[in-house]
Amino acid sequence: MAELVLHPGKERSLLRRHPWIFDTAVARLAGHARPGDTVTVEGADGRPLAKAAWSPHSKIRARVWSFDTTATIDHAFFKRRVAEAVARRAALPELADQQGVRLIHAESDGLPGVIADKYGDTVVVQLTSAGAEKWRSAIADALQRATGCTRIYERSDSEVRGLEGLEPVTGWLHGDAPAGDITIAEHGVRMVVDIVGGHKTGFYLDQRDNRRMLADLSQGKRVLNCFCYTGGFSLQALAGGAVRVLSIDSSQPALERAATNLALNPQLAAERAEWRCANVFDELRQLKAAGETFDLIVLDPPKFAPSAAHAERASRAYKDINLLGCKLLAPDGMLMTYSCSGGIGVELFQKIVAGAALDSHRTARIVKRLQGSADHPVDLAFPEGEYLKGLLLQVE
Ligand code: SAH
Repeated sequence: MAELVLHPGKERSLLRRHPWIFDTAVARLAGHARPGDTVTVEGADGRPLAKAAWSPHSKIRARVWSFDTTATIDHAFFKRRVAEAVARRAALPELADQQGVRLIHAESDGLPGVIADKYGDTVVVQLTSAGAEKWRSAIADALQRATGCTRIYERSDSEVRGLEGLEPVTGWLHGDAPAGDITIAEHGVRMVVDIVGGHKTGFYLDQRDNRRMLADLSQGKRVLNCFCYTGGFSLQALAGGAVRVLSIDSSQPALERAATNLALNPQLAAERAEWRCANVFDELRQLKAAGETFDLIVLDPPKFAPSAAHAERASRAYKDINLLGCKLLAPDGMLMTYSCSGGIGVELFQKIVAGAALDSHRTARIVKRLQGSADHPVDLAFPEGEYLKGLLLQVE
């Protein structure tokens, strides 16, 4: 096995159990390794520190599989890690009756570059690193064994694969496509999950708890859902008794899917829902100009800052929509606002939202800090795993 030797001092983050080794930390590779091969990471003094997957094309030159330097990275290793991740979810009572669950949350489950989401009896896996790519079949077998699911679909078409020198890959790893749509029920609302054509693995499971919270807040309220995708928040608002739900997204296919989802739920008051295909930045201005107000506004935009390098421009975008959101709220209305940008931390996000509230000349209070649901754990050594952060504000 090849050895990846670090520059002096560059072992510090590894000793704190951070799983990434950047190109700037690497002094040399002793021996030969192909992309995805396991290497032993060594400090400048020759001390072994970890077993990691080598990725020569990426700025993240290696990702740690194990800090136990005696570990063997083989099929049995993946069987164990995958089983542990699945068991972690099984131990959480709140997930017991969920049909859509994230089973593997990458680095935070000790499996860098591996995402796995379960929708009913289908598992969708996304591999985004050279190491994960190499162990595809071990990971798929382990998932099948740990879940009993016979259908496993690969959705490895995320852009970040390009950074690892990997081509997009999609297709069935186990079993065949089911005859009809894949549908899950979330808090009593049925939703189609388009695992082939939808975003990511088809659905945003990280917002599950927050969608329920929106339902709980919606009775008698006029709700505006910005960046609605396939209508997850919109349908929960209807389920919670909202009197009006205006939903905006710039994607016509997403809105069509949202309308289909609504039709799957005859218990909901469909006539209270309105779908608008528009750019949220423009539409919020139009709504303001038209003098409209809402009691509850959801802002769940796509990643404006994939990394810290985009933070400044992204900050302006977050500020803009949050300012408009504050202005559109009726007195004592509530703003549910999120960022899923890796490049914007919890503190910065709060600062941006505070700035927006201040500029709206209204008094705003944080009622609750919001995060991803429990099947999206965050390893404390790896804060980058915390994608979703949110605030529930009350605006006087
Ligand atoms: N809240 C959703 C997920 C939102 S994903 C849920 O719970 O399922 C982000 C959505 O924003 C995508 O559907 C994308 O089409 C949409 N989007 C991206 N940029 C936009 C823009 N400028 N205006 C309107 N919609 C946008």
